[in-house]
Amino acid sequence: MLELRKVSTYYGNIQALHDIDLKVEEGEIITLIGANGAGKSTTLMSISGIVPPKRGEILFRGRPIHELSADRIVALGICQVPEGRHIFPDLTVAENLDMGAFLRRDRRGIARDLDYVYTLFPILRKRRNQPGGNLSGGEQQMLAISRALMARPRLLLLDEPSMGLAPLVTRQIFEIIRQINREQNTTIFLVEQNANLALKVADRGYVLETGRITIHDRAGALRANRDVQKAYLGI
Ligand code: ATP
Repeated sequence: MLELRKVSTYYGNIQALHDIDLKVEEGEIITLIGANGAGKSTTLMSISGIVPPKRGEILFRGRPIHELSADRIVALGICQVPEGRHIFPDLTVAENLDMGAFLRRDRRGIARDLDYVYTLFPILRKRRNQPGGNLSGGEQQMLAISRALMARPRLLLLDEPSMGLAPLVTRQIFEIIRQINREQNTTIFLVEQNANLALKVADRGYVLETGRITIHDRAGALRANRDVQKAYLGI
């Protein structure tokens, strides 16, 4: 579904990604794990067109997307939930969700998807007339994921969904991520600092170190890998 070929991304003169090769198959959950500053967010932003790569290619369903604008990439079915959520605090929950569907014209489909996200997260239905800024951190993460789902993505890019959340809320959100993957057949690309959790839900994983992919394997094999255990799993 998605392929990165020798992707190199820069901030000015600083090279953040070095020749990244990576593949995501339709229907998978894949995760990218790595330390602070390894380049995980940059990888997602390269895919979504927010920080386009300087060299290399990104193919989505066989079509090059690395030169497209971010809104064209959303229109093709790739949607990113950014680190820190970035919901609109002054808009209500319902208005935030409307924003997610701004490229769509199929009213019935939009209504169906709205009902789906309210079923996934009943608390959002309850709070639909409240400003997004009044929600708790966990509820804002639910809203950010739901807003992305309103764009009806084929590929959902999630940047650190567990950031700042209590363990119980994190587990609940990860359960729902699995559910979205199963029920909607949405392919998921998950970036996480919490490698333990990420490797439990993912099918496959990549390890990123200072802008380079160093290991990739099935999630179970990564969990059993001594180097991964020492560096990322605290074992
Ligand atoms: P974190 O888990 O802390 O978010 P990350 O793995 O997502 O880390 P990135 O945020 O992608 O890492 O950062 C990769 C590298 O690019 C780091 O060295 C970072 O300092 C640098 N970087 C990120 N954003 C910018 C920017 N806007 N300008 C300059 N350098 C940046």
